[in-house]
Amino acid sequence: MKMLCQSSEELNELVMEAKACTKHGKVADYIPALAKSNQHDLSVAIHYPDGRCVSAGNVGKKFTLQSVSKVISLALVLMDWGPEYVFEHVGMEPTGDPFNSIIKLETIAPSKPLNPMINAGALVVTHMIKGKTIEERFQRLLAFVRELANENTIHYCEDVASSEFETAYLNRSLCYFLKQHNAINEDIEQLMDLYTKQCAIEMNCLDLARIGVVFAMDGVDLFTGKQVIPVDIARICKTFMVTCGMYNASGEFAIKIGIPAKSGVSGGIMGAVPGRYGIGIFGPALDEKGNSIAGIKLLELLSKNYKLSMF
Ligand code: GLU
Repeated sequence: MKMLCQSSEELNELVMEAKACTKHGKVADYIPALAKSNQHDLSVAIHYPDGRCVSAGNVGKKFTLQSVSKVISLALVLMDWGPEYVFEHVGMEPTGDPFNSIIKLETIAPSKPLNPMINAGALVVTHMIKGKTIEERFQRLLAFVRELANENTIHYCEDVASSEFETAYLNRSLCYFLKQHNAINEDIEQLMDLYTKQCAIEMNCLDLARIGVVFAMDGVDLFTGKQVIPVDIARICKTFMVTCGMYNASGEFAIKIGIPAKSGVSGGIMGAVPGRYGIGIFGPALDEKGNSIAGIKLLELLSKNYKLSMF
């Protein structure tokens, strides 16, 4: 069995097959600006450690990271504070609940969200990004994203950030709940400003695959030879991607596809195939759990064809 996808033509065939299911999905519209996405888009890039990249679909198209950013903010905060401190404030257990659920905060741990991939946990993580001002904290995160992607032009989409900022009532409630329980001690509007900009960081699937390969290679940027993320932190991030990266479909995803991956409501998926390659996908039509419907289909095909599962 082949372990590598050799050409864009080969990848394009899989994209065409996966694309058929975009009609069964729905683009996210609870953030109004995301509702403008084209339901039938599907693009993918696979980045190998030696710098080669194969891609298919409209790969230049940009999208916002949304929840994919949670892995990157987690890595930064772990580098800022160390795992021991971070895991005093956010847990390590999957919830099996939707990403924006408040229920386990109330019934299990009011001041410590169960993991950093659900919104409550991600908000606590963003709260921990070091810096004197919101602007400084955002610029640190953005610089880290640019370093991982090796792309200095990456920015955030103001339209999507302000659209989410204006309508993030549920995220505000999570923040106020956490503030009541001393898990957050900053101004909530400021934190929402930072969080919505973080989620609105924009790139294409080539950039996302490039970030994926850094995680896949244990935090080493093979172009520069630099250890951009410490090995233990890259390992922690990949483990969260396996246990809770694909919302409350993470178990099924681990069985059917079997790689560390993180998805976002914009339709992005970042995959990190350990020791092999990074995958960036954009397909905005979502299934009922909030994952890119064609993205999942495509990963199923890739996993079957190239034996991706690590299990
Ligand atoms: N900005 C989104 C939110 O917090 C991210 C959610 C996601 O992609 O899962 O609602």
